[in-house]
Amino acid sequence: MKLDWQRRAVIFFAISLLILSVVLVFFAVREAEREKLLKEREIEGARRRLVETIDGRARSLIGEAEDRLLEAAKKGLKEPLPDMPLVSEVFFVDDEGQIAFLGAKPLFLLPGEMPRSREVARSLENNDRWKRAEAAEFRLGDYSQAAALYRELASKTADPALDALLLNRLARCYTKSGQPDKAISAYRQQLQIGLPDIASEGIPLEITALYQIGNIHLQRGQRAEAAGAFLELYQGLLDARWPLTRGQFESFRRLAEDLFRTTVGELEASLRADWDGRLRDLKEIEGERLAKTGVLEKVSGRLIPRMRLEARAMDPDSGKFLRIAESTDSGLLLASFFPLDTKTTLGLLLSPQVLAGGLLPPSSGKSELEEGWSVAIVDESGKAVVGQGLVPREAAAKSDDSQRVFTGAFADSFPPWTIEIHRSGAGAAERQFRLRRTIYVLSLAAVIAALFFGGFLAIRSTAKELRLAKLKSDFTATVSHEFRTPLMSIRYMAELLQRGRVRDDARKQQYYETITGESERLSRLVENLLDFSKIEAGVKEYRMEETDIAALAADVAGRFRQQAAFKDFTLETEIADGLPLISADKDALGRAVLNLLDNAVKYSGGNPRVTMRVWSAEDAVNFQVEDHGIGIAKTEQKKIFEKFYRSESALQSNVKGSGIGLPLVEHVVRAHGGTVLLESEPGKGTRVTIRLPVGPPKLRKGDEHG
Ligand code: ADP
Repeated sequence: MKLDWQRRAVIFFAISLLILSVVLVFFAVREAEREKLLKEREIEGARRRLVETIDGRARSLIGEAEDRLLEAAKKGLKEPLPDMPLVSEVFFVDDEGQIAFLGAKPLFLLPGEMPRSREVARSLENNDRWKRAEAAEFRLGDYSQAAALYRELASKTADPALDALLLNRLARCYTKSGQPDKAISAYRQQLQIGLPDIASEGIPLEITALYQIGNIHLQRGQRAEAAGAFLELYQGLLDARWPLTRGQFESFRRLAEDLFRTTVGELEASLRADWDGRLRDLKEIEGERLAKTGVLEKVSGRLIPRMRLEARAMDPDSGKFLRIAESTDSGLLLASFFPLDTKTTLGLLLSPQVLAGGLLPPSSGKSELEEGWSVAIVDESGKAVVGQGLVPREAAAKSDDSQRVFTGAFADSFPPWTIEIHRSGAGAAERQFRLRRTIYVLSLAAVIAALFFGGFLAIRSTAKELRLAKLKSDFTATVSHEFRTPLMSIRYMAELLQRGRVRDDARKQQYYETITGESERLSRLVENLLDFSKIEAGVKEYRMEETDIAALAADVAGRFRQQAAFKDFTLETEIADGLPLISADKDALGRAVLNLLDNAVKYSGGNPRVTMRVWSAEDAVNFQVEDHGIGIAKTEQKKIFEKFYRSESALQSNVKGSGIGLPLVEHVVRAHGGTVLLESEPGKGTRVTIRLPVGPPKLRKGDEHG
């Protein structure tokens, strides 16, 4: 069927459009995704380049320092070293692992370092005079004899080391024999020789000398002089003048400080201030040097062993330095080594702080960074060395891509830091992609909505048309049928009468009545159709005049009885007295009531008892037609006033009809300003009431004659 085809076309069209839009959106989203990927790859590249730049900077800073020092070292380090903040220490390591720092001296011997003090007394062990002198000093207690022998030995030697030892012994004898002035001058002479490395029984002779000078002064009550001697001892210790082990250094330092403090403590306040100031200065220096010694200790204890392990990899011809990083509890050690020759290796200790400070581009270099990016350099423990405002790693890992961190490392893990590039907020590419995807998806949703809505409307309108078309075709069939039945019976009876076949008068009379009734019915049918087509065309006119309702009702009842005389039914009329005159179109109203009576008989089922009532109440006149027939279902009570509509039960009981009767009734009643009331119950009957107002009706289209 044509309309079915239309509906299918609509569905087909909608589905193809839908598929097309889905495919389009799919490709658009894919394209946007590809673009985002490209952009992201670009960003990835930029980030990698940034990491490379920072790494390159580290390499060039370190390389420059190495080259300059290597050059200076090759020249024998004769000229003062160039000023390089990056290099915190320079040192040389010999093939035995002995280490010599340039410019920096540890306060005491580092682990593994050989003691460098000389026990000069050993060279005299077999000397006869020396033996006698010692015997005089220690066994006999003859100090003048001992002193004479020591002096004699001194006059015979040209070795300043022996000289210093003998002066020391001489001074001791003077002290023991109660000659403090002589003792002090002998110790001073010994100190002037200036050999810090000679020792007796492991204790440097200079330390003994200074300690004794201080003590002698103290015993004589010369506190200022004593304090001076102890301070000298303290100063010498801090200058690392003597080769001491760590334990020795610490006990001598404590001794010197304690002696100094007790000596000064008993001085007058005015004199004390100056001494206290000097001690404070020394303590400050002590702090710095201890810290430095700690670093040097770690260089020798941890870096040098590693360097010696990897020394084989070092090749002087390659010109390449061996770089070693070592983290310690007091910070990171960065060192670089180069073999100067088969015996000596040059070492540099680099300052991590200075290196870090030189890595990030200054503010002018910000252009290397995209908007919203930040760079930080983070050490092994996750602490920022440079840069700030960073998200802790765990949090960054958990959060979405808006906080993604890109990390890079330095070549050879030197320095062993991580370069972190952060991006706050989603990147431009991601943002753009999301926006585009949203737009595509929304447009797709809009298309789908429009398609559904349009399709729904189209299908609904075709469905309505379809129903109307069916009703119309049914209508044509029924109307033809309605015409054919009475026409055939008229023709049949007329033929019989014409041929004179009917002799019985009563029979003849009945035929005539039937012929009249049927033709009346036909003409009413024609009038109904005419009225209907006029109403449809909007040209139906009503001829209003003063009408006696009682007379009209009686006339309609009479005409109906006559028309339907051959049918089996009873019509009771209850027409009230004293009905008012109303303004009405007699013909139209009469036809409307006839239609109601016709329906009452047609749908009477097995109970053809019809009642027509007319009465007036409250400024209105009521026509009522009641039957006890098949009734109308609730759901259909509104629909039966639509044109061509016929109820299910009517169709089932095979009652002929056109579906235009009730629409006509409603139109006529409305034209009179009245209302139609339908009460019905399936199987019990129907009651239709027309209520017409008394008084001039409202004019409607075509009511000009009212
Ligand atoms: P028709 O020519 O079919 O009678 P109408 O417009 O007069 O057309 O009526 C429309 C439909 O209303 C009928 O087909 C019938 O189904 C239903 N109808 C009308 N009057 C009655 C009634 N008195 N009892 C039962 N059904 C009725």
